[in-house]
Amino acid sequence: MIFTPEHEALRRTVRGFVEHQINPYVDEWERAGRFPIHEIFRKAGDLGLLGISKPEQFGGMGLDYSYSIVAAEEFGTVRCGGVPMSIGVQTDMCTPALARFGSDALREQFLRPAISGEQVGCIGVSEAGAGSDVAGLKTSARKDGDDYVINGSKMWITNAPCADFICLLANTSDGKPHANKSLIVVPMDSPGITLGSDLDKLGMRSSQTAQVFFDDVRVPQHYRIGHEGAGFMMQMLQFQEERLFGAANMIKGLEHCIDSTIAYCQERRTFGNALIDNQVIHFRLAELASEIECLRALVYQATEQYVTGQDVTRLASMAKLKAGRLGREVSDSCLQYWGGMGFMWDNPVARAYRDMRLVSIGGGADEIMLGIICKLMGTLPGKKP
Ligand SMILES: Cc1cc2nc3c(=O)[nH]c(=O)nc-3n(C[C@H](O)[C@H](O)[C@H](O)COP(=O)(O)OP(=O)(O)OC[C@H]3O[C@@H](n4cnc5c(N)ncnc54)[C@H](O)[C@@H]3O)c2cc1C
Repeated sequence: MIFTPEHEALRRTVRGFVEHQINPYVDEWERAGRFPIHEIFRKAGDLGLLGISKPEQFGGMGLDYSYSIVAAEEFGTVRCGGVPMSIGVQTDMCTPALARFGSDALREQFLRPAISGEQVGCIGVSEAGAGSDVAGLKTSARKDGDDYVINGSKMWITNAPCADFICLLANTSDGKPHANKSLIVVPMDSPGITLGSDLDKLGMRSSQTAQVFFDDVRVPQHYRIGHEGAGFMMQMLQFQEERLFGAANMIKGLEHCIDSTIAYCQERRTFGNALIDNQVIHFRLAELASEIECLRALVYQATEQYVTGQDVTRLASMAKLKAGRLGREVSDSCLQYWGGMGFMWDNPVARAYRDMRLVSIGGGADEIMLGIICKLMGTLPGKKP
């Protein structure tokens, strides 16, 4: 990918924002289990960072998706996973379908404030009984006059405790599971919505996650995004941006694991020598650094194709899979070289070890990515390659 001076300027803007507005407070937010999301989003919104590739008509910058990927990569310099994940939910998970398929009125009401940072959004797909199997979800939106009446619940919803709206995937008819779903924007202060208490997570501590319950929640039918029954298809498209964001966002965090481990191993001495002088250690770090460059190349290749309008389901799934795998491999290997220090809660590599573990599970587990890749290779059982 060829980067222009405009890409580099955006990089500097995101890096400066992270350095001054986020990183000095990360340790405090991790301990608190939350961060001041409305305040941070307003500041990000003022810099245009929440609408980089969103339409100018609704306050976005109208740039192509390569700029969003540059920002996703730089948000990887945040010294925890929770804050960039919350930002990614806003920019690349709960608003892509709204921006692409929403009516002008809906985009005016929900996309514009999401881009400016006045409103926080969340994405409601997973349910306690349906995570990987999205088609099997049970939450329903039944028509009643001009409204939908929504019943059901969503599980593990990032940003839910502080969100102003949810982009909800629900069954709007009893038809076939891939054709009976719609995406509906639901204000979180609607009567009938209740939240479970914040979920106590292994990692991503500074982002808030909760279960959301819908009990006869009434919203107008014009809060639906696009055509009725097209929700599953739109969510699958929306997942492409989620997965590209997730993979791009990992790169700099992985590099930070390597760099901080090199610095530590240069200082730490065993048996009279610096740890880094052991070939088994510096070879391993060099190998992992090479793997990270492969991930970067894959993300850039997928982005280039996405920008030209190609279907990148295969490459985005591969990038998400590789990012999840490397998140585990790099953080685990690096943690080992920190010895006992690596086992301390506030150690930067220990935090990465906890936070990055989610990447192999959330937004489609590794096995789901493998299934998609197999399907596109024609290698599913019973299919000819
Ligand atoms: C911190 C966090 C934040 C999240 N945020 C959101 C959010 O904002 N919005 C949202 O909608 N969801 C969110 N999720 C949910 C997440 O996307 C799901 O957890 C994920 O899709 C996996 O679903 P599941 O947990 O139900 O796992 P299951 O579907 O029960 O699967 C369990 C495991 O089985 C394996 N598996 C599943 N199917 C297959 C298969 N066909 N073949 C082989 N192996 C398989 C995989 O290893 C998988 O991890 C979040 C989850 C977490 C933990």
